[in-house]
Amino acid sequence: MRSLWSKEEAEQYVERYRERANADIALRVYSSRLIGRDPSLVLHGGGNTSVKTVVRDDLGREVEVLCVKGSGFDLQDMEPEGLPALRLEPLRALRHLQTLSDEDMVNAQRTRMLHASAPNPSVETLLHAFLPHKFIDHSHADAMLSLLDQPDAEKLCTERFGKRFAFVPYIMPGFALAKLAAEVYEKHPECQGLLLLQHGFFTFGQTAEESYLRHVQAVDEAEQYCRKRRYWTMQRASMPPAKSLSYAALAPILRGLLGSSRDEVGGVQTPVRRYTLELRNAPETRAFVDDPNVDELSQIGCATPDHVIRTKRFPLVLSIDTHANETVTREHVAKALHVYRERYRDYVQRQMARKGIVVQPLDADPRIILVPGTRSR
Ligand code: ZN
Repeated sequence: MRSLWSKEEAEQYVERYRERANADIALRVYSSRLIGRDPSLVLHGGGNTSVKTVVRDDLGREVEVLCVKGSGFDLQDMEPEGLPALRLEPLRALRHLQTLSDEDMVNAQRTRMLHASAPNPSVETLLHAFLPHKFIDHSHADAMLSLLDQPDAEKLCTERFGKRFAFVPYIMPGFALAKLAAEVYEKHPECQGLLLLQHGFFTFGQTAEESYLRHVQAVDEAEQYCRKRRYWTMQRASMPPAKSLSYAALAPILRGLLGSSRDEVGGVQTPVRRYTLELRNAPETRAFVDDPNVDELSQIGCATPDHVIRTKRFPLVLSIDTHANETVTREHVAKALHVYRERYRDYVQRQMARKGIVVQPLDADPRIILVPGTRSR
């Protein structure tokens, strides 16, 4: 990974937004876009960035604010409006509270906003607010998670990054995480960022460029480390036999059963949905799907919430007898889908009960289906 920062481009952003935003915010927009442009750093809507700056309120008074990514905005096409401004001092005062529920936190954040109609600021706003740095960048970059999701992540990361980063143990994003991250930073005031175990990482800087470069540099080093250790290398399994089930034969069966109004085995009603299927057949993908341990490997869970909102927690593995006829294949797929949907519904129910909340469940269909041993045609 290399830095995409360009001095000329940065100056153009300052010029372009002169009427709408100060230079801090314009540069915040610029480097947010640089991060958003790279899918190995963030996927659509993922990650967040902030800047602490001074703006004028509606009475013309100068006020210190935190401008942080708002919900519904994507870093890739960030605009100043996507960085709602919150009064920094009363935001920081929240740190004195012992606890703050997610609902109260959202409300507390909204009451500190300068513009009543601005989007809700990120769920990680308080983490940005409680740290003193001017520019802060946060992502769930794949390469970093390849280290941070390991059981011995602290050892691996210390080997790789030395003392440049401090470690924050896993807790769900929200008030408690924001407080803990600030405490960790205060114990390691010399660090350039925070590594959040099983979550992602933050870099800080006095300028947009400094924070961005630290971010990209760390990801680049993590990538080199992963390549050296062959974390991302899979041995290609043997080719499927020539007469095995083809994608062309399977796809219409899948399309017919996915999103159907009736779960064929259990008779449970689900909303009608129409899907477009896309075959992904790259050598790395095939190596994973045809691996003898795919049942186990594919059910570990995805690396980051950036993925889970697109892929669901687990893919469906269809271990079909690749010589079966259409009727048998169809029955097999229907049954496997039923089991998958039941498992998803159970999971949603269990988590709602655990948290004591009620949410509208999504449809229960898989988003990724792994079919070992199929041919592409
Ligand atoms: Zn995060």
